[in-house]
Amino acid sequence: LALGLAAGMSACAPAGSNNASEDASDGGVECNVGISMPTRSLERWINDGEGLKEKLEAKDCTVDLQYAEDKTDQQISQIQNQVAGGAKILVIAAIDGKTLGPTLESAKDQDVTVIAYDRLINGTDAVDYYATFDNYQVGQLQGEFIEEELGLANGEGPYNLEPFAGSPDDNNAAFFFSGAWDVLLPYVESGQLVVPSGKSPSDNAGWTSIGILGWKSADAQSEMDNRLQSFYTGGDKVDVVLSPNDSLALGIESSLLAAGYTPGTDWPLITGQDADAANIKALLSDQQAMTVWKDTRELGSQVDAMIASIVAGEVPEVNDTETYDNEVKVVPTYILEPQVVVKDDVQSTLVDSGFVSADDVGL
Ligand code: BGC
Repeated sequence: LALGLAAGMSACAPAGSNNASEDASDGGVECNVGISMPTRSLERWINDGEGLKEKLEAKDCTVDLQYAEDKTDQQISQIQNQVAGGAKILVIAAIDGKTLGPTLESAKDQDVTVIAYDRLINGTDAVDYYATFDNYQVGQLQGEFIEEELGLANGEGPYNLEPFAGSPDDNNAAFFFSGAWDVLLPYVESGQLVVPSGKSPSDNAGWTSIGILGWKSADAQSEMDNRLQSFYTGGDKVDVVLSPNDSLALGIESSLLAAGYTPGTDWPLITGQDADAANIKALLSDQQAMTVWKDTRELGSQVDAMIASIVAGEVPEVNDTETYDNEVKVVPTYILEPQVVVKDDVQSTLVDSGFVSADDVGL
């Protein structure tokens, strides 16, 4: 082993072992990890997967990283292969949080420890830990940003709002919508926010009716095209769009450009999440007002630390044992805090911290 690995390795390898993947003595677990990510089509998941793999490999863990092209069946067979191939710990960002139960239950029978990554896995006791950013807070930050920018608390309005929601099969999407809608619905009810398309759920549970399956930019774009063509014919303008994440925001922004909206003049306020490079560029060119940044490196470090504990035969640290009920159990969770990033913060937060390079975003 290279000497340079020794310090990092000690967290993963039980004492007395010189190779974490060979020795699971001391009641610990072999550091053989299967990472299952939903898709390569979104930048964040590429960063998540590769960042975590690198951290684990630096500690001499064996790592298999798979992406499932947003196809549930593919994710299930990839996980089954990982377990058959000897994975003792699974880190899973589920495509559909409700479909993995049987697969994980048979993994559990083989003593595999399961960590739900970013998205909760529902309806099974075969999930041991969860690490995520505060999903309700993500939506709340988007809602509060709109509230503040438009002066809603001071009675301003009416403004034309078009709300969007995330993929109906993603457990997070419900949290994002609730966080935002708890802030915004009272203003819809007071008439300060008007939704010309009528796509305005009357309660939080109604979000699936405006959800974009698979979080696809192209589908958000055509949905926005439809709304603009059908409900904004008489010269009415959209003032604000609640977009739960950056991939939807991109599609919505393309639709607005095609419809003749101009950044800096009649461009609506648009929210987002993830700080994807394309959306950071949109912040810089006034096509998107904010993004909720979740530093995926922090999430990776947290999961890395959880894995180190599991490998050492210890109980991983969590900071929440109440919030994430998966219908069978409340999953012990480590929750991280998201933060709002606007144009003026791009350099000081995203670039200076090394999350993106100035080149990547054209700075
Ligand atoms: C994640 C978001 C992401 C979305 C689409 C959600 O589960 O929390 O960060 O934008 O999935 O991939």
